[in-house]
Amino acid sequence: MRVVVVGGGIAGLLAARVLSEAHDVVVLERDELSDEVEYRAGVPQGRHVHGLLVRGGELLEGLFPGLRDELVAAGAVLADAGDMRILNPLGWLARTRTGLPLLSLSRPLLETAIRRRVTAEIVDGVHVTGLSLRDGTVDGVLTRDHGKIGADLVVDASGRSSKLANWLAEAGSRRRSPRSSTRAPGTPRGSTPRRRTSPWCTRKACPRRTCRGGAR
Ligand SMILES: Cc1cc2nc3c(=O)[nH]c(=O)nc-3n(C[C@H](O)[C@H](O)[C@H](O)COP(=O)(O)OP(=O)(O)OC[C@H]3O[C@@H](n4cnc5c(N)ncnc54)[C@H](O)[C@@H]3O)c2cc1C
Repeated sequence: MRVVVVGGGIAGLLAARVLSEAHDVVVLERDELSDEVEYRAGVPQGRHVHGLLVRGGELLEGLFPGLRDELVAAGAVLADAGDMRILNPLGWLARTRTGLPLLSLSRPLLETAIRRRVTAEIVDGVHVTGLSLRDGTVDGVLTRDHGKIGADLVVDASGRSSKLANWLAEAGSRRRSPRSSTRAPGTPRGSTPRRRTSPWCTRKACPRRTCRGGAR
């Protein structure tokens, strides 16, 4: 099966890593990608320092054995998760040894290290503009400068700027828009409160829609 993954960020690269075990995968990324560790426009949050938490680190290590050591050798800071300074409504939590590894690193470093290890084809400078449908079934993607690229399966990993709902509508799909969820995976339906009061909020008239004002 030929799979097109839209977006070469972390989600796109990991989808490609897993799918390429059984399929012919191509990742389409609109940015020009460098072999060096560099910031890029498509990931504006890349300038913000990132932390690779324990479970994420374990999962990445499973997909890319030796990745943690490689990142540390390249400058990532390895710490004990209990070293993190955490402020909660009761005050600062005490630091404690947990034995659980936490990596502090730049987003470009993490992404570049993963990209070097993904064996799927990664094509940069390709801006996906829509879906191609045939007889009501997605059979590829449409791109700004490269026409249609055929696929048996399209994975949308274009992040927060995803236009998937618009693409489906433009393509004439009569299917309902994809459901979106802010629930954490595995969290039972209905267990997330509809409105949350932020314990951090000290503003009397907080502009956040979900905040009822917190501490007053
Ligand atoms: C300030 C900030 C700090 C953060 N800190 C952390 C942290 O410490 N630890 C952590 O784990 N997470 C952190 N995150 C969250 C993390 O950065 C995101 O969850 C993660 O980047 C999402 O990955 P993604 O691959 O889904 O999307 P993205 O990283 O947004 O990647 C989407 C990719 O798709 C490409 N793309 C978009 N549209 C198209 C198109 N039409 N055609 C082709 N390509 C397209 C983009 O160029 C981009 O490369 C932080 C986020 C922010 C905003």
